[in-house]
Amino acid sequence: MKSLPAALVAIALFAAAPACAQVGPLPAQPAVVPLPLGALTPIAVRDAGFAAANDGKTFGLGIDTAEVGKVLVAGGGKAERVELGVTALLVRISGHVVLIDTGLGTGAKGVLVDSLAKAGVKPADITDILISHGHFDHVGGLVGADGKPVFAKAVVRMTAGEWASIKGAATNASLVAAIGPSVQTFAPGARLFPGITAVAIDGHTPGHSGYEIESRGHKLLAIGDMAHSHIISLARPEWNIAFDSDHAAANATRRRVLTQLAASHELVFAPHFPFPGFGRIVVNDDGFAWVPVTK
Ligand SMILES: [Zn+2]
Repeated sequence: MKSLPAALVAIALFAAAPACAQVGPLPAQPAVVPLPLGALTPIAVRDAGFAAANDGKTFGLGIDTAEVGKVLVAGGGKAERVELGVTALLVRISGHVVLIDTGLGTGAKGVLVDSLAKAGVKPADITDILISHGHFDHVGGLVGADGKPVFAKAVVRMTAGEWASIKGAATNASLVAAIGPSVQTFAPGARLFPGITAVAIDGHTPGHSGYEIESRGHKLLAIGDMAHSHIISLARPEWNIAFDSDHAAANATRRRVLTQLAASHELVFAPHFPFPGFGRIVVNDDGFAWVPVTK
């Protein structure tokens, strides 16, 4: 009997692994969820899912994985991995069609463009893209498989610090070449449109920014990667997360912003919380918890 080529054996073993062992980007069905906000209707636009193993390398650095698993299970998750969503936010405001972040991109299982179609929006309709930060799960959707900008008519806006950080990484050369002519930078906290203001949320990346959307006294804060897991990031805000570039700043910011959000009851959009990522923060013991809002 012939032996199987090693590559086929590897594929067979991978296929036989239980689904719960999968980590990295995960496929998702295209979907959109609108949320009324005063006179506006922001729309959550699904791109993908993402999973990270509870192996001590991503969430809870330096914390025993059994302890991390306990927190995950107490919050309704699985002990062996941290599950995230990857979601963008669409806002039609003041004559602009604004997209906040762009997901992983089609090359990495992203379905953002198919989800936008469900909202009746074509890529060429997008006038402005607000980038929270330059990680691949937020800027991946900017460039198509052909190397060209997906949102051909959009101005790509981000903080000057974040653009400098993106340009400083050699691995971003093709991204920088593709979007460079479309990028316009702003200072942290800048008012971008009537109804959308940038909010400096420090620690995740050098120029990380949230975006606050306001209409008729109703507010929604798009938090970017201030918090990743709706369980761990809220229950244990001071646990180090590998994705944060400055742990001390990110942890302090997380505690401060979560405290403010719990006190104000302001609506939140969190791109990595379970789709659609709309909800509110509440105090829970020494940490916080997530209360999803669907309408
Ligand atoms: Zn992210």
